[in-house]
Order: sequence, then C-alpha cells, then structure tokens
Amino acid sequence: MNAMTALPRYEVYALRYATRDARRPSHFIGGDPHDAPMPMDYYLWLVRGNGRTVLVDTGFTAEVARQRGRTFLESPVALLQRFGVEAEAIDDIILSHLHYDHAGNLPAFPRAAFHVQDEEVSYATGRYMCHHRLRHGYEVDDVVELVRLVYKDRVRFYQGDAELMPGLTMHRIGGHTAGLQCVRVNTANGWLVLASDTAHFYENMESQRPFPTVFHMGDMLEGFNTLRELASSPRQIVPGHDPQVMHRYPPPSEAFRGAIVRLDQIVP
Ligand SMILES: [Zn+2]
Ligand SMILES: [Zn+2]
Repeated sequence: MNAMTALPRYEVYALRYATRDARRPSHFIGGDPHDAPMPMDYYLWLVRGNGRTVLVDTGFTAEVARQRGRTFLESPVALLQRFGVEAEAIDDIILSHLHYDHAGNLPAFPRAAFHVQDEEVSYATGRYMCHHRLRHGYEVDDVVELVRLVYKDRVRFYQGDAELMPGLTMHRIGGHTAGLQCVRVNTANGWLVLASDTAHFYENMESQRPFPTVFHMGDMLEGFNTLRELASSPRQIVPGHDPQVMHRYPPPSEAFRGAIVRLDQIVP
C-alpha cells in the first residue's frame, strides 16, 4: 500500500438550513439576459472520519435570517443534532470565510478549534470594512465573536494551503473575499472539493461568470481553475449555494430529504 491509498477516507454531508427566492440577474456579474427565478440555498458541511468530526462553516441564526429577509428552514445546530451530531462533539470548524451566512452561531460550539485564513481576519477587521459595499456581507457580532475566540486560544490561523489532517486540506482562494478558502476531502471516490463561495452556483464556474460579490476579480477567476485542479473530476466540486446539490446527491435517509445529502458516495 502506498502513501496515497493509505490516506483516510471521509464521509461528507451538505446540510441545507436556509433558502431565499432570487432571480438569475442577481447571481452573475453584469446580470443575465434571462430574468427567470434562481433561488439560493444556504449550507454548512459536515466531514467525518479518522476519529474526528469536522464542520465547514456554521451558518446564521434565526435573528439574522429575519433581519436579512432569508427563509430559515432549521437552525444549523438543531439540524446537526437531529442528524445525531451534538455541537459539543465537533472537534474542528473550518471557516471558509467570515460572511454572515458562513460564520454565525460560533458560541454554540463550546469545544471546537476554529481554522481560518490570516487574510480573512485582517480583511474583516481592517480598513476595507470602512466601505459599506464590502462590509455588508459581514455581521459585526460574528467578527467580534471570532476575535473573542482568538483571545481564548480557540483560533488557528493559516497563510495559504494547509493540511488539517491527512486527506483534509484547506486552500486559500481569495477573490470573493480577501481570505476565502475552499476545502478538499479524500473520499471513496477520490478528492471532493467543498468550494463554498469560490463558486456559489455550478453555473458561475461552468460559464466563468462570477457571482457579483467581489473583492479581487483576478483571484476569483483563478479560483475556478484552482477548484478544477484540486478535485478528482469537475463533478466533484460542490458549490456553496446551489439548490442543485440537493438533487444531484442522495439524502442519508428519507427523514433528511431536502435537508441533508451525502456527497462522498456517488459522483453525480
Ligand atoms: Zn460569501
Ligand atoms: Zn455565502
């Protein structure tokens, strides 16, 4: 057995906790000629294996959903619990970035270490947040909560690519925000990539038309290439907000249809 085949393989799930109605022109830079419905789903991701339970992102709260007019389906913490995963059981939480829909609920996880890129924390606490256009994707309470966790030795910082554990790596992408990172996981089908907001929808990467929330356009476009380089096949890239994810992959059981799908057992 060589080193590659010896890598642990992980179970990976997408958990859908909120949604909103939207139309196509709001999801592409420059709009879209077809003014048709294109709803957006909100996810977090669960990775299990090698004796560890890892969360990628933490979703938002009911209160933030109300403030921002999102349809809250189920609290991320309650959804995890319904799936048999207590918040106390989470060892590690990778924060893809600190936008409100990815980095809320932090105090709900009492034991976890949080893994984030240096640049994301600098960005979310620095001069660019003087601009409403760049800060409106963040909730200041989430950012402050992360800073509190820094002072409690609960945050691990990274610059660029890093290995959390064998077969589970983080890759700085930037583009959408300064320190956005994606996550690559070894599965029974090879490398699966959780793109988070590197690609909100399959169509953003397939048509090379980014989502309109942009910090650095060049990094954003390069990010689509990085996703393809990291994944075993283009179909093993999981976008961050696409309702199609719930249709391309199977639920772990009927009870979770529409709420959770398992990503590691089939290639769609
Ligand atoms: Zn985002
Ligand atoms: Zn997002």
